[in-house]
Amino acid sequence: MDIKNGFVGSVGNTPLIRLNRFSEETGCEILGKAEFLNPGGSVKDRAALYIIEDAERKGLLKPGGTVVEGTAGNTGIGLAHICNAKGYKCLIFIPDTQSQEKIDMLRTLGAEVRPIPAVPYKDPNNYARISGTVAAQMENAIWANQFDNLANRIGHYETTGAEIWAQTDGKVDAWVTATGTGGTLAGVSLFLKEKNPAIKTVLADPMGSGLYSYVKTGEITIEGSSITEGIGNSRVTANMEGVPLDDAIQIHDTEAVRVVYRLLKEEGLFVGGSTGINVAAAVALAKQMGSGHTIVTILCDSGSRYQSRLFNQEWLASKGLSPD
Ligand code: PMP
Repeated sequence: MDIKNGFVGSVGNTPLIRLNRFSEETGCEILGKAEFLNPGGSVKDRAALYIIEDAERKGLLKPGGTVVEGTAGNTGIGLAHICNAKGYKCLIFIPDTQSQEKIDMLRTLGAEVRPIPAVPYKDPNNYARISGTVAAQMENAIWANQFDNLANRIGHYETTGAEIWAQTDGKVDAWVTATGTGGTLAGVSLFLKEKNPAIKTVLADPMGSGLYSYVKTGEITIEGSSITEGIGNSRVTANMEGVPLDDAIQIHDTEAVRVVYRLLKEEGLFVGGSTGINVAAAVALAKQMGSGHTIVTILCDSGSRYQSRLFNQEWLASKGLSPD
C-alpha cells in the first residue's frame, strides 16, 4: 500500500521533471523540481510544515492556537492548509501588491487576511515585521517568521535537497533558484555542497532585488523592478546567511515572461513568474557551463495564481511585457 497521511503526509516527494525543449536546445539536462504539485500548490508547503511542527515540538503552539505570518501569499496558503488539517487558526498579513488570486485563496481556506500597504523592511509597518508585532501581543499564538526562522531552510535541507540528490543519483552539476526567504536556496545548497562540494550553487535574482549584487560584490544595491511575486529581497535573512554560493545570475522580466510562456506552450507546464526566472537562469547557466551538464531548478508554483496578471494580456502589456 502507498497511502499518504493526510495533507501533512502529502507535502514533498514531488517529481523531478526534465524540461525537454530547454534540455535539447542547451545540450544540458535541465531538470525542474515540480513544487507546484505540493498539496497546497507551492514550494512553500515544505517551509510551512517544518515551521509549524518545530513550534509544536518546542511546545510553543498548543491546541486551538493561532499561526501568524507576513507572506507574499504562498507561505500563507501552505500555513492555512496545515492549520485546517491540524486545528489551528491562521492570521495573514499580505502586501496589497500581491495577486488577488492568492488573497482570495487564503480567505477561501479560512485564514483571516489583512492586506496592508507594501513598505520596505526598515519600516515597522512592513508586512513581515507587523506580523511579528501582532503575534507577540496575542495569546497562544506563534509568529511563523519564515524569513529568519531556520526551520524553513532545515525543511529544504532535509527534504528538497535530499530528494534532488536521490532523484538524480547524485549526478548534479549545478543547482540554481531564486529566493524570497532564502529557505529553498539555502537548504538545498547546504545539502548538495555537503554531498559534493563540486556542485555549483547559484542564485537567480529578478531586477529590483539586492541579492545579485550581494553575491557578486558583498554589497546590496537595487536597480529596476520586477513583476514576479515572492522572490527577491533587500536584505540578507537568517535563512540566507552563510550559504555556500558560487555565483549569481540576474534575469530581466522580458526573459522570464518569455520562458513562462514557452514552458506553457512547449513543455505543457503552467507555472508562475518565479519559475520563469529560475528556468531562464538554468538556461543561462547551461550556456556558461557548456553542454553535457545536469542543472536542477525549482518549478515554484502554478500559473493559476497569476491568471489576472501574468496570463492576462492587457495587464502584461500595461507593464511593457509580452509573451514573446
Ligand atoms: N517562488 C514563489 C512564487 C514564492 O512565493 C516563493 C516564496 N516567497 C519563492 C519562489 C522563494 O522561496 P523561498 O522563500 O524558499 O526563498
